[in-house]
Amino acid sequence: MNTPKPSVQEKIARLRATFIGQLPERIAAARTLLARLKAHPTDPAVIEEMHRFFHGLKGTGRSFGLHQLGVAASQAENWTAQRIESQSGAIGAEWLDQLEKYLDLIATMADKQEQYQPVPPEESRSVREESNPADGMDRRGRVVYICDDDMLTLEQLASQLRCFGFKAMTFNDPRTLHAAVLNRRPDAVIMDIMFPQGHEAGTDAMATLKEEIDQNLPVIFLSGRSDFGARLAAVRAGGESYFHKPARALELVAALDTLTAQQQSDPFRILVVDDEPEIAQYHALILEGAGMVTRCLAEPARILDELRDFRSDLVLMDMYMPSCHGRDLARVIRQIPDHVGLPIVFLSGETDRKKQDSAMRIGAEGFLTKPVAPDDLVNAVAVRAERMRALRSLMTRDSLTGLFNHTTTSQLLENAIASFQRGGATLCFAMIDIDRFKSVNDTHGHPVGDQVILALSRVLSQRLRNSDVVGRYGGEEFAVILHETSLDRAARLINELRLDFGRVQFHSAKGHFSCTFSAGIASVARHTSLESLREAADRALYLAKNNGRNRVVLD
Ligand code: GH3
Ligand code: MG
Ligand code: MG
Repeated sequence: MNTPKPSVQEKIARLRATFIGQLPERIAAARTLLARLKAHPTDPAVIEEMHRFFHGLKGTGRSFGLHQLGVAASQAENWTAQRIESQSGAIGAEWLDQLEKYLDLIATMADKQEQYQPVPPEESRSVREESNPADGMDRRGRVVYICDDDMLTLEQLASQLRCFGFKAMTFNDPRTLHAAVLNRRPDAVIMDIMFPQGHEAGTDAMATLKEEIDQNLPVIFLSGRSDFGARLAAVRAGGESYFHKPARALELVAALDTLTAQQQSDPFRILVVDDEPEIAQYHALILEGAGMVTRCLAEPARILDELRDFRSDLVLMDMYMPSCHGRDLARVIRQIPDHVGLPIVFLSGETDRKKQDSAMRIGAEGFLTKPVAPDDLVNAVAVRAERMRALRSLMTRDSLTGLFNHTTTSQLLENAIASFQRGGATLCFAMIDIDRFKSVNDTHGHPVGDQVILALSRVLSQRLRNSDVVGRYGGEEFAVILHETSLDRAARLINELRLDFGRVQFHSAKGHFSCTFSAGIASVARHTSLESLREAADRALYLAKNNGRNRVVLD
C-alpha cells in the first residue's frame, strides 16, 4: 500500500519532535561538562565547548519556536562568552554556580510541555507547499494543441514543431479542441481566430475554454488577420502572444519556450552546512518547500567534495561549528578558483554586529540571524542564487544559442570521462557540423545564417535529455555528450535529430530553404582518454563530410 508523502509541515514537526526528544540527553552532556569544569576550573577548551552548546541550543531552540528555552540559552551563552573574552585566571565558584543555575533553568524549560506548541501559524503559512518544479522538468515531450480550420497550415506547423521535440496534436474545429483539453491539459495551445462559424470564433471559443477549464492555460493566437479588432479580441481572450500568418516555426518555438519556461528552469541548488543535523534539515525543508534542491552537510571537512559533486548555487552556512569556524570554512572555499564567486550566506545565532561584520569581510554575501522567518530565508537565498546563475551563465554559455560554450563543454566532457574511469556508466561523444554553411551565409546573409545555428541548437536541446550536454563548439559546430548511452543508441538518436533538422524550413528574401548536418560519434568504451575520444569523433565527422555529408558516421 502506498503511504502518502509527508508534507513539509509534517517533516518539520518531526524534526522538532526529534530535537525535543534529544534535549534531556544534551542537557546531561552539558552537566558532565560542568562537572569537568568544576574539577579543572582553568581548562579553556571546556568553557568553549560549553559556549558552543548554549549557542547551538539558542539558535535551534528559537528556530523550532521554543522561545523561552532560546532566551535562557542566550543568557547562558553570554555568561560563558564574557568569561572567554576576559581571559582572567581561574574560574571562581560564583561563576560556576551561575552557570549551573542557567543549566537548571534550561532543564526546567525542556520539561515544560506547554512550550511545545506546534510551529506558530504565521510561520507555517509562509512555508509554501508547492510541488517541486524538478518534477516533469524534462524539456522533451511538451504537449501543444494546434487548432486551425486550414489543414495545410495545421499539418505544416505540427510537423515543424515536432522537429523541435514538441508533441503537437492537431484539431480543425474549436469544439473538438475543447473536448481534448478537458480530457488532457496541454502545455500550450496555438489557436486560429477565424473559423467558418465566425470571424472571431477562435477567440470566443478560447475565452470560454479558459473560463471553464483553466485560466492559466498558455495560448498563442495565430491569424491571417492583423487588424486591431482581431488583436484586441485575442488580448481579451487571454492570449499571451499573437502571430500573423504565415508564422515561422522558429519564432513560435521561442514563444512556446517562454510560455512554458516555468516548468523548465532548473531549481536552485543549495548546500546547507550546519553541525546540528536537525537545524540543517529544518532550513533545507523550508527551501525545498519553495522548490529548491538542497543537500545538508554536518561535517565541514567534506565541503570540497560536496561542492564538486553537488554543483551548488549557494552555500548556507552556520558560523560556530565544533571542528571548524564558518569564517575559516568560507576562506577555504574562496581559495579554490572555481568557487571564488559562489555566494556564501551565514545563518547563525550570532547577534553581535562586530562579529557579523568580520564574517562578512571574508567575502560572504549575507548574514541572517537565527531564527529566520521562512519567507525571509527563501527570499535571501533565491535573490543571491539567481544572481549566481546569471553570472555563471555569462561565463559558461554561448550568447547566441544559450548552449554551453567550448570551454565549458570540454570541461564537462573531461568530468564525464573521469567519472567513467572511476567506474561510472558509459557515454558517447558526438561532433556535429552544418553542411555547406558558408553558402547559406553567402546566399541568404549572415543574420539568416544565425537563425539556422539557433534552429539547430533548439532541435538539439529540445530533443535530448536534460542530463545530456549540448555545446556550441565553434561557429557552426556543435558537440553533444550522451550519458549512459551505447554507440548504437547514440547513432539512432543523432540520426533522428539529423532527419528532424533537415525538415526545418528557413525563410529569407531569397526564398525558402532547408539545411543538413554531418556528425561523427565515438564511444568512451573504445576511447578512454579525452584526447583520443575527441580525435575519434572528429575523424568520424571528417569521414561523414568526405562521404557526401548529411550523414552520421561512427568510430
Ligand atoms: P562543410 O559542409 O564542409 O562544413 O562546409 P561549410 O561551408 O559549412 O564549412 P566552412 O568551415 O568552410 O564554413 C563555415 C562558415 O560558418 C564560415 C563562417 O563564416 C560561418 N560562421 C561561423 N560562425 C558563424 C556565426 O556565428 N554566424 C554565421 N551566420 N556564420 C558563421
Ligand atoms: Mg565547419
Ligand atoms: Mg560546416
